[in-house]
Formats: sequence, C-alpha cells, structure tokens
Amino acid sequence: MREGCALVTGGSRGIGAATARALAGEGWPVGVNYHSGEDAANEVVGEIEAAGGKAVALQGDVADPATPDALLSALKEHFGPVLVLVNNAGVAADALTPQIDDEAWAKVIDTNLSGAFRLIRRAISPMMRARFGRVINIASVVGLRGNPGQANYAASKAGLIAVTRTVAAEVARRKVTVNAVAPGFVSTDLTADLGDEAIKAVPLRRAGTPEEVAACVRFLASEEAAYVTGTTLTVDGGMTA
Ligand code: NAP
Repeated sequence: MREGCALVTGGSRGIGAATARALAGEGWPVGVNYHSGEDAANEVVGEIEAAGGKAVALQGDVADPATPDALLSALKEHFGPVLVLVNNAGVAADALTPQIDDEAWAKVIDTNLSGAFRLIRRAISPMMRARFGRVINIASVVGLRGNPGQANYAASKAGLIAVTRTVAAEVARRKVTVNAVAPGFVSTDLTADLGDEAIKAVPLRRAGTPEEVAACVRFLASEEAAYVTGTTLTVDGGMTA
C-alpha cells in the first residue's frame, strides 16, 4: 500500500459517504470532509474503523478559499499526503433562469466548481512528486446535456468536466490521473424531492445507489486504472445512452 491517504469532500452523506467507505475498504486511510453534518461524518468514520480501516472527520466549507490548505495540512499530519482526491461535495439551487439570482448562481459555482478547482490546485503538486495520484471529480449527466431549471448546476458540472480534461493532460506525465464520474439519478438527500416521473427518464427504470457510484470511483482510484485519464464515466442507468 502507498504511503498516503484519500480525501472525500462531502463525505458525511450520500455518494460521498459510500465513496469514503469504499476507499477505506481498499486500504486507504480516509479524510471524511463535511460542512454541517458533524454527527453524520463521525458515524461514517465509526463505520470505517469498525471494519478495520482508518478515517478522520474534517470540517470545512469547500467554497471557502482557505479550506484546501486546512484539509490537506491536517490530513498530512494524520495519514500523510493526499494521493486520492474525490471532489464530491455539491449543492443545487434549482430555478428557471430568470429566477436564478446572483446568490444562487455564486453558491453553486463556488461550491461545485471553484471549491473543486482549488482543492485540485493544492493537491496536485504532492501527487506529482509522489509520481502517483488520482483525482476523481463527481460531475453529473447535467454537465453533459441540458436540464431545465439547473443552469447554475449544469454550468458548474460542465466546468468540472472541462477542468478534468485539462488538468488530466497537464499532469499525465507524472502518473497522476484525473477523471470525472457523472451520475444520473441516485437515491440521496439531494434527489429526495424527485418523484416517479424522474425514473421514467431512466432506461433501467430505477434510481442508482450511492454504492454503485462509489464502485466506479473505487475503480478509478485503483492501480489498475492507471491508463484511464481525462474521461467522464457516466453512471446513469442509460439516461445518456
Ligand atoms: P447529498 O446527499 O446532498 O450530500 C451532499 C454532501 O456534500 C454532504 O456530505 C454535504 O455535507 C456536502 N457539502 C455540501 N456543501 C458543502 C460545502 N460547501 N463544503 C463541504 N461539503 C459540502 O448529495 P449527493 O446526492 O450524495 O451528491 C454528491 C455529489 O454527487 C454532488 O456533487 C452532486 O452534485 C453529485 N450528483 C448527485 C446526483 C444524485 O442523483 N444524487 C446526480 C448527479 C450528481 P454536510 O451534510 O456536512 O453539509
């Protein structure tokens, strides 16, 4: 096992919690970042430790420019350099375009796109020095095609996919890979308000599970995925087929 650890932003719930558990299952010590859900993050850490893994809960708002250094410095003390970065923290503030005010625009872009970019910028040099690194950005099918009522969210996720491709090309020679995972409709708090209508747009006729997304992240984080970089893996039950 390599000397280092994984950081999962928004690891307290949903896809992030499943991803933290999956990476810990592969032997990575994991930083479980949360924003407001301290109890939930501690629960994830407890589950990982009960299964024999190592984890620590770390508070931090990814939209705050000071957060990347705080998280990576704290993790270096605990477990060594971050060699697997999963940019999972994300929010939505849905409305049709005339109703998206500057605040709703900025909140979604700052959290989903700028927060992820700043973490990548901070994490990438130690990865290059280690000649190993895995960055996995949780995008969305909405970054690949339109979805009425989500101009801010779609822009953040399309931007994240563009950052993925570009940084992948920049760091490939140092054996660092950068990929995105684009879920469709996954059962979490984020999609709790979506009804049966949403399922009709899914050829598989069901929502995905956080664990099904986490399994894809686990693969992209693995040694075996060394030749996969700059890509976006859709996990959407066929929505974009
Ligand atoms: P979720 O259940 O709502 O969980 C969101 C997570 O993000 C929570 O752990 C939350 O932490 C954290 N978070 C939110 N704002 C944060 C901030 N400013 N700083 C740090 N952490 C923050 O969401 P989810 O459905 O698992 O979604 C995870 C990712 O997948 C998101 O990027 C989302 O856009 C993407 N995605 C989800 C779906 C889906 O169908 N669910 C589809 C496509 C893409 P606290 O609880 O501590 O506040």
